[in-house]
Amino acid sequence: MKALVSIKRVVDYNVKVRVKSDGTGVETANVKMSMNPFDEIAVEEALRLREAGTVTEVVAVSCGPLACQETLRTALALGADRAILVQTDEELQPLAVSKLLKAVADKEAPQIFIVGKQAIDDDSNQTGQMLAALTGWSQATFASKLKIADGKAEVTREVDGGLATIRISLPAIITTDLRLNEPRYVTLPNIMKAKKKPLDTLTPEALGVDVKPRLKTLKVVEPSKRKAGAKVADAAALVDKLRNEAKVI
Ligand code: AMP
Repeated sequence: MKALVSIKRVVDYNVKVRVKSDGTGVETANVKMSMNPFDEIAVEEALRLREAGTVTEVVAVSCGPLACQETLRTALALGADRAILVQTDEELQPLAVSKLLKAVADKEAPQIFIVGKQAIDDDSNQTGQMLAALTGWSQATFASKLKIADGKAEVTREVDGGLATIRISLPAIITTDLRLNEPRYVTLPNIMKAKKKPLDTLTPEALGVDVKPRLKTLKVVEPSKRKAGAKVADAAALVDKLRNEAKVI
């Protein structure tokens, strides 16, 4: 069974995100970029399925500029068998990414496609769901546990107020939640080995996908600055401030 895993290159989660001075988006020049954390979880889950003998091949897919090769090399160093870059310098919105991933899925025919639940840069939480709609495959979103047996996937999903466990047929799209697993670290010998693993490049044109943006970003602004806090002497002073300064009680 083949597993496909989608990988988005995003601003590293430790970096303080800055808005471009013209308000057109987020500054990415000279900023540390990394694999979207939910995609690290997706890679880890696919590797664990391979180690358990359920999956025979793990293929990592990324869509974006040439620099995404570096992120795919990280996936290869973690243990993916090969990688595919759908290379484009166009701005990619979730619908375009879903169409590209669908085209790759058509070529690769995986039984399971593991996608991050959301990208930490745009927080869209759309790609996995739209990929399921486009492929017509089963979907289980926000997975915190995954078991595969008898051609079915049993997925525990994080839902409001608890956990829901569902059984779906394969092929399926699974989106990863934070508690699914704890990703392993990349080791130096594996970084060296990853350099020799296959990384193929495709283009949206070759896949017959129109990636033109359908949404227009009007403006991006920084969140308003938080005011510094203050210490109060006692509960009475706190109540006084809440009543007379903040006027919330
Ligand atoms: P989003 O819908 O943008 O929040 O992204 C959800 C997930 O879709 C990510 O965690 C990735 O697994 C996948 N994804 C989004 N954009 C890309 C991309 N450019 N290349 C590959 N995978 C992507």
